[in-house]
Amino acid sequence: MRFINALKAFILNTLFPPVCVSCKKEGDFLCMDCLNSLDKKKISQSYKKIDDPDLHHLDGVIYALDYAKNPQIQAAIKQLKYKFTQDLAKHFADMMALKLSELNMVKGHKIILIPVPLHKKRLNERGFNQAEVIAKLIDNAEVIPMLERVRNTKQQARLSKKERHENLTGAFRLNKKCIHKYNSENIYFLVDDVCTTGSTLEKCAEVLKKNGIEKVYGLVIARAFK
Ligand SMILES: [Zn+2]
Repeated sequence: MRFINALKAFILNTLFPPVCVSCKKEGDFLCMDCLNSLDKKKISQSYKKIDDPDLHHLDGVIYALDYAKNPQIQAAIKQLKYKFTQDLAKHFADMMALKLSELNMVKGHKIILIPVPLHKKRLNERGFNQAEVIAKLIDNAEVIPMLERVRNTKQQARLSKKERHENLTGAFRLNKKCIHKYNSENIYFLVDDVCTTGSTLEKCAEVLKKNGIEKVYGLVIARAFK
């Protein structure tokens, strides 16, 4: 499936050269001009300790960009998810790696990245998990797929905050095939594309914490929460 997707992307790129999702210029899916014009935040603004009692398992979220201030990113994330544009994943991964490198708390520690999992059914439909693709492209970190999604939940986008919480109850559990020995010296990040209400990250963090991981942070391309 992955090979077929890569082949499909290759053929499409040859027949239809990449066009910038933002300015439509040919050459790259996100051109240098548009990349440089993104409103990237300093890390002091990127780290968000979520002040929300519903999100008490999640210790904070690191994000590269603010969704609302960068509408081109919405198009880029859609392009990555639905058209398998790996070049975009690398741009995102680099932005996220940069944020991590600016973070004092990770200095001298091993960074563990845990992709937010897709349900098997959705994984088969899409052929890849965009969170995992991005995580694997982030430098100086180890990717450990510690979680699995056991319920094929409804798309979160149109649900209210309360409905999102209910929709995700019991959706995640530890991936039995993945053996990882917890080390308190490691810093653990859940990786996803966008953080909207934080519900998905929270539910994943809850599972990890119940299994002994003391601190869990989120690492996303863009945040959309208030
Ligand atoms: Zn452009």
